[in-house]
Amino acid sequence: MLSGAADALAVVHEHILVCTDCPLHAKRTQAVPGTGPAGARIMAVGEGPGETEDRVGKPFVGAAGNVLTKLLESIGLRREDIYITNVVKCRPPGNRDPEPAEMEACSHFLDAQIEIIRPDVILILGRHALARLLPGAGGISGLHGRRVVRGDRLYVPLYHPAAALYQGSLMRTLEDDMLKVRGYLDEAEARRRQPPNIAAPPGHLAPSIAGEPAPSSEPPARDQLSLF
Ligand code: URA
Repeated sequence: MLSGAADALAVVHEHILVCTDCPLHAKRTQAVPGTGPAGARIMAVGEGPGETEDRVGKPFVGAAGNVLTKLLESIGLRREDIYITNVVKCRPPGNRDPEPAEMEACSHFLDAQIEIIRPDVILILGRHALARLLPGAGGISGLHGRRVVRGDRLYVPLYHPAAALYQGSLMRTLEDDMLKVRGYLDEAEARRRQPPNIAAPPGHLAPSIAGEPAPSSEPPARDQLSLF
C-alpha cells in the first residue's frame, strides 16, 4: 500500500511517461520522470535526460550522474535518499539545450513533483534549472553554493555536474559548494534539535508567497533555516 505522497507521485510519473505535450516526445526512447522517495528531504533538479538517461529511463545515470553521485556521497548523502529529476523529462535530441517552449510545456510536472515531495532543500543543477526555478535571481556564476530563499522554499544553485566533466576546474568549485550544502544541512539539523522554547516563535515560518519577494542570497535568518 502506497502512502498518499508516493501515490500522488506515481500518478505524476504515469502522466509524464505518456506525455505528448511538446515535440520532445517524438524522438524519445522513453520519458524520464525522476527517481527517489516521495518523502525525500532533498531534491536535485537538472536540465534534461541525456542519451543514457533516455535509454535507461532514470535521471543522472550517465557520466554526469556519476559525478553527482560522488558529490552527494562526498558529504555523506546517499543518492537513493534524494529525489532526482529534470526540468524537461524527455531528451532534447543531440543533447541540445531545451527550448523555452519545451520547458514551459513540461513545467507543471516539476511543479507537481515539488508540491508533492515538499523537499526541505532543492539543489539546482545548472543554469537551465536555475532559470526555471529562480527566474530573475541571477546567474549561476554568482549564485552557486549560496542559499536562496524564495517563498517558503530553500534552494542551493550549483554548477551542473556535466560542466565539471568539460571544465576540470569546476570540479573543485562543485566540491567546495557541496561542503557548503553539508554546512547548511548541519546548521538546520542543529536548529531542529534546539529545545522548543528557544526555537523561532510560531508563525515565523508562514510562507511569503504573495508578491513573490525578491530572492535573498544572504545567509538566511534563523527562522528560514528551520525549514529543514
Ligand atoms: N542527466 C540528467 O538526467 N540530467 C541532466 O541535466 C544531465 C544528465
